[in-house]
Amino acid sequence: MPWPELSQALHDRQADNLWRSRDTWQRESATEVSHNGEHYKVFCSNDYLGIANHPRLVEALGDSAQRSGVGSTASHLVNGHSREHTALEQELAAFTSRDRVLLFSTGYMANLAVLSTLMNKDDAVFHDRLNHASLLDGGRLSGARCQRYQHCNVGDLQRRLRRSLARRRLIVTDGVFSMDGDIAPLGDIFATAQQHAAVVMVDDAHGLGVLGNNGGGAVSVEGLGQAEIPVLVGTLGKAFGTFGAFVAGSDELIETLLQFARPYIYTTALPPALAAASREALRIVQDEAWRQQHLRSLVQFFQASCKRLSVPLLPSATPIQPIPLGDSARALQVSSQLRKRGILVTAIRPPTVPKGTARLRVTLSAEHCEQDIQQLVDATAEALRMSE
Ligand SMILES: *Cc1c(COP(=O)(O)O)cnc(C)c1O
Repeated sequence: MPWPELSQALHDRQADNLWRSRDTWQRESATEVSHNGEHYKVFCSNDYLGIANHPRLVEALGDSAQRSGVGSTASHLVNGHSREHTALEQELAAFTSRDRVLLFSTGYMANLAVLSTLMNKDDAVFHDRLNHASLLDGGRLSGARCQRYQHCNVGDLQRRLRRSLARRRLIVTDGVFSMDGDIAPLGDIFATAQQHAAVVMVDDAHGLGVLGNNGGGAVSVEGLGQAEIPVLVGTLGKAFGTFGAFVAGSDELIETLLQFARPYIYTTALPPALAAASREALRIVQDEAWRQQHLRSLVQFFQASCKRLSVPLLPSATPIQPIPLGDSARALQVSSQLRKRGILVTAIRPPTVPKGTARLRVTLSAEHCEQDIQQLVDATAEALRMSE
């Protein structure tokens, strides 16, 4: 070890029940994985529509790789930008009803790019307290003065805006909160922004593809367009079942990012075959609307079953349905009991969530059936009883 503090920090991590470890999983189907020959039903992936294994995605990826190879070989501004990237950007712009879209390799980078490019030390960023880590890190990287308002609390946001003297103010929120599953009050946030001459940025990583009539996400549910939400971030590794991310907005916003965003400029472009697969995913999201409908009915079925068996849930109308446990040790214990019954739901602990709010983050997929859900709820009720 280069520094003795490292072993102390590792020791503390373990002593606090916050140790993280990886298993090596083999993906068997949209809802099943195996590990050392044992099979598990998965209730913790972000593949909400169950399309990451869809034959049309696999074929699109393979065909594109056959034609143009695997690596993009350079950054977008050198020669890594291909026909597939351009087409995907145009299709995503149409899908989100925005002027223009810029692709990024990951959502983490898209958020770093937007915040560090648009904001600087003279500006103010207002984060929802439960915003995704990449948004918080982007704010830090920008050098702007960052503050966190109480979760979904527009009154608190308003008070903070009133006190701020910064010329440029950006309100930043997840559309659907990644670890809680609740939806930001976007209409009220926009109204508040208008009163205080602030701009709103929404990261809808968990809403796009899932919410709204055509998968248009949390912003489309509230009928908010580019005029109201000028900065929209989406990711492709969740409901779209592929990999990558994008920013959608005005031509000027996108051109600014293309010219100035370091996480866009100084990195290798997403492999074109992944862009081709994402184009196919976007078509499936629109062609197979039954996926969103079935998912909604599974959420209701899950909630009703939990109620019947007294399994506590956080309030959420999305496929993210967390079971609050509080204590990290208990969350680990319940998760491991479920695993013994062939069910995979990882325990989510601090610092991913605030101290004392460890939970099982259950996620549902359109490829689950009611029987899967019932099995999950029965096993959870029993595991909770055993851990009391
Ligand atoms: C997953 C997630 C990201 C990061 O996206 P990646 O493409 O996985 O890097 C950003 N924001 C939110 C809200 C997320 O849930």
